[in-house]
Amino acid sequence: MYLILLGAPGAGKGTQAHILTSRIQIAHVSSGDLFRENIKKGTPIGIEAKGYIDRGELVPDETVIEMIMNHLNTPACRNGALLDGFPRTIFQADSLNNALHERFNKGIGRIIYVKVDTDALLQRLSGRWICPVCQTPYHELNNPPKIKGICDHDAAALYQRDDDKRSTAERRLQVYFNQTMPLIEYYKKQGLLLEINGQQSVENVTNDIIEALNVLSMDKEKKDIILGETEESLVA
Ligand code: AMP
Repeated sequence: MYLILLGAPGAGKGTQAHILTSRIQIAHVSSGDLFRENIKKGTPIGIEAKGYIDRGELVPDETVIEMIMNHLNTPACRNGALLDGFPRTIFQADSLNNALHERFNKGIGRIIYVKVDTDALLQRLSGRWICPVCQTPYHELNNPPKIKGICDHDAAALYQRDDDKRSTAERRLQVYFNQTMPLIEYYKKQGLLLEINGQQSVENVTNDIIEALNVLSMDKEKKDIILGETEESLVA
């Protein structure tokens, strides 16, 4: 099963992805995390991506698609994945669809669209802190760690991403509205979009997502058609 988490930067995709992948037996594939890993290691992908990321622009489609498809070919993603931050353009969505059908004979299961009003997004982005070890995201107001500045899981000191600074965050939102928002209609037309209210507590957002996916899993016949699966159950 391949699920996509869709939403603006700051909508809470990363937070939800971390919670969901611990509750659903599925690999977490975050294009942003993969880029940051490549930058840290100084790979050719990382060197190419860094400038775009620092400016709040999208990395060129070909580079992202190659990186994600290589990752989906690894054993960890054999039974599917929760895609977080990919696709971000119609071209990426078409390429993903074609590649899944060609390589795995599967389609996209569902798109979980976490909807948050524009006003709330900037405020959220600038309060975000991340663990450099386990990548768990926190927020000063909405989802603070138990001890300020320290990860609950491994006690590492949290850091703020450079591209969460205000001017870059604004640019990222602009890019999202221009290039990624058209995906909402694109997937809605395909009947695959699950719209979730992202302006509630982290726990309630998770519950709404799980409930929406559970509803699908209850009706096995319908689930088989939607997910193109025959055996796996959605929620472990
Ligand atoms: P994220 O952590 O998902 O907010 O991604 C951080 C940055 O990585 C984005 O602002 C883009 O510069 C780049 N990026 C991540 N995913 C993609 C994608 N699917 N297409 C193009 N660029 C991406």
